[in-house]
Amino acid sequence: MKIQAVRGMQDLLPRQKEIFRFIEDTVRDVLGSYGYQEVGLPVIESTNLFKRLVGEDTDIVEKEMYTFDDRNQESLTLRPEGTAGCVRMAQENGLTYNQVQRLWYAGPMFRYERPQKGRYRQFEQIGAECFGMPGPDIDAELMLLTHRIFTALGVAGDLGLEINSLGGAESRVAYRAALTSYLSGVATELDEDSLRRLETNPLRIFDSKVARTQSALEGAPLLQDFLDDESIAHFDGLRRTLDSRQVPYRVNPRIVRGLDYYNRTVFEWVTDTLGAQGTVCGGGRYDGLVEQIGGKPTPGVGFALGLDRIALMLEDKFESRHQADVYIASAGDKARAYALDVAEGVRDGFASLRVIVDCGAGKFKAQLKKADASGASLALIIGEDEVAGGQVTIKHLREDREQQSINTDELGQFLADYLSKE
Ligand code: ATP
Ligand code: MG
Repeated sequence: MKIQAVRGMQDLLPRQKEIFRFIEDTVRDVLGSYGYQEVGLPVIESTNLFKRLVGEDTDIVEKEMYTFDDRNQESLTLRPEGTAGCVRMAQENGLTYNQVQRLWYAGPMFRYERPQKGRYRQFEQIGAECFGMPGPDIDAELMLLTHRIFTALGVAGDLGLEINSLGGAESRVAYRAALTSYLSGVATELDEDSLRRLETNPLRIFDSKVARTQSALEGAPLLQDFLDDESIAHFDGLRRTLDSRQVPYRVNPRIVRGLDYYNRTVFEWVTDTLGAQGTVCGGGRYDGLVEQIGGKPTPGVGFALGLDRIALMLEDKFESRHQADVYIASAGDKARAYALDVAEGVRDGFASLRVIVDCGAGKFKAQLKKADASGASLALIIGEDEVAGGQVTIKHLREDREQQSINTDELGQFLADYLSKE
């Protein structure tokens, strides 16, 4: 029986992993430049955390969670998203108490979804969560920050920012009544999940991916017509900052987001280059969440970006770094030992150079083929003559230049000169 990767789980080959690493490094640098601090969070949480915070009748809790009993019959879940765990951590450790926090985390999330391009059962997110700041300026900061990330990654041109306001609890009660009454009139057009949500949580229906349901929604009343004055002022404040910083955005009254915890600001960064998996980043405000797990009322706002989808956007334009800069070929036992010394010496002097020592027993010709494939620009050749004379022979793999032999103790100077000319 052949054992293969579990459905929906991805292997990342070296080039893919390099793209993920590039995204992570870039995001980490930008988050740092805004003063955000990294935290580490468990992959496993109590199932109740997600039921309570994400919401019982969301897609995630209803059908996407990896839930299991541990040996103590405690119900545990592989985290499907990061906000709930981060809020739990912040509250449990007193970070939300009379303080302002800007936090971020990275890692895998798990959802039992139908796997397809840009949609997997294990995927990578980087999330940021801010606590203690009620005004629209922090909402705007998150949008400036994500905009800077996408610019640094070189994908900003293919992404658009969409924003909406969900208002406060009161505006939603009034809106819910109007929406329920409208949707009851077009009930025959709704898919099964949406019909059920008509009873439990009609706003959720906007999040449906069923085309027929989406067209039935076309004449629906819009939440923006039910917003309370404070939410309108908050949204205006956000828009003023985006306008003054000249961040392009579109108000999309249909964005509700797939989780229950949002109020007021919600936003998404979307692309049309990835088909149905077009959202690469989503976020919003969740002022009630800390209270919901037993803390004092604490404003919160955050976002999560999906690395897998951003990696797909970079696949064609990302330039991989060469596997090696210097490749060392040798023949004979003495030469191999000598090659190892030379390699360690180069690594001592030039920590950023990638140095590969050939470990096969092949002939020079075969070793130089591997040197070429490694992308290295220099091959150092060490045979019996070189060992006897304390020398290395340098072959330029990417330039039409004579090969040259130099004393090994001059290699450092040679490399320094070579690199300064590059
Ligand atoms: P979608 O509507 O595409 O299902 P979502 O609203 O469920 O997305 P969020 O919970 O907001 O997604 O997660 C934030 C980001 O994480 C998404 O914008 C996306 O980039 C990424 N993401 C979510 N689910 C997956 C998945 N199954 N595979 C890969 N990336 C994902
Ligand atoms: Mg989803």
